[in-house]
Amino acid sequence: MASDDTDNQFATKAVHSGTKHIEGAVNTPIFQSSTYKLTEERYAGWAAGAQHTLLYSRLSSVNSDAATEKICAIEGAEDGLLFASGMAAISTTLLGLLSHGDHCVSAPDVYGGTYGLMTDELPRFGIEVTFADMTEPSSYEAAIQDNTKILYIETLSNPTLKVADIPAFAEIAKRHNLLLIIDNTFATPWATQPIAMGCDLVIHSTTKYLGGHSDIVGGAVVGGTDLIASLFPKKVHFGGCPDPHACYLLERGIRTLHARMPIHVSNSLELAKRLENHPSIDSVNHPMLEGNSQYQIAQKVMPRGTGMLAFTVNGGDEAALKFIGSLEIIFEATSLGGVESLVECPFNTSHMFVPEEVRIAAGINPGFVRMSIGIEDVEDIWDDIAQALASI
Ligand SMILES: *Cc1c(COP(=O)(O)O)cnc(C)c1O
Repeated sequence: MASDDTDNQFATKAVHSGTKHIEGAVNTPIFQSSTYKLTEERYAGWAAGAQHTLLYSRLSSVNSDAATEKICAIEGAEDGLLFASGMAAISTTLLGLLSHGDHCVSAPDVYGGTYGLMTDELPRFGIEVTFADMTEPSSYEAAIQDNTKILYIETLSNPTLKVADIPAFAEIAKRHNLLLIIDNTFATPWATQPIAMGCDLVIHSTTKYLGGHSDIVGGAVVGGTDLIASLFPKKVHFGGCPDPHACYLLERGIRTLHARMPIHVSNSLELAKRLENHPSIDSVNHPMLEGNSQYQIAQKVMPRGTGMLAFTVNGGDEAALKFIGSLEIIFEATSLGGVESLVECPFNTSHMFVPEEVRIAAGINPGFVRMSIGIEDVEDIWDDIAQALASI
């Protein structure tokens, strides 16, 4: 658990782990090279499976090794792989671990791209997915079949910010001998470290908080040595590798994760409290509000909180669009986790292809707005929200 930085040295790991001081450089230099000189040692590494040998940048690179080691250190994982995007990480993991005839249990309010992968792509390969309720671990257990291999969850659901009871899922996965895979993008390893709670693999869209500056697209999977070794050839075959320069920016971003997160989190909670009392707001989704149905689980799973915020404005989607169109500082764009505040309506962006009845069942009602709260001055963000609410 990340609750005591002094014990687990989170900040020190974020700053120092993985960084390659080549030629005495303080930062890992950018190795913008597709391939590496073959030596005796590298031929031997190739013959042994190639995973930890510098050969060719689709397999690994100096910069991907550095960023991978940093993510493993802060997630408490033995090993990991980096990808060109979060979706490359998710698709490679699921297609790599599931075969024709296998089954996976997930939830309808997972990330929209993941939902699309599970509904449109996996069934084409004979892989079956059943959707259950991430707030009810027992519903996942009830969906388990003889051919189930994976339980797939997200720490915080997108965009309704429901918190998964990770230890309860881990207990079920263990009892049924299944893999528990979690997408920890929304929460970050600063807020929660799922491997210590029993998850087998942790996935990130590093595009978000880990990169932290809305300047890269990337993904990561971390976990135990054997599982990651089994995924390495899948990454090589599917080919979704990251570019060295993006890995460099990712490594740089992670170095300040612990410095950025407390500001994201305190800004987000302060805004959630003010919105709760605003007459133009129907409801606020924020797991750190004491009245939220997820409050107790959040205290257990991610007590430090979140930089995300969601709420429903009165007046439906039309009012919500007017609201976001009137914002001046908060930028109307999809994505999250950067230093700047971003806003979107899920119905016409991230969840556009999720059928309306599925959206509403997941709590994405008309007027629903999702915000990624940045690290600007909280009073400036509030003033912007208040003036835009006044316009609807
Ligand atoms: C953005 C996101 C993804 C997809 O990542 P990309 O880097 O955009 O491919 C997956 N899961 C979650 C929770 C995300 O927020």
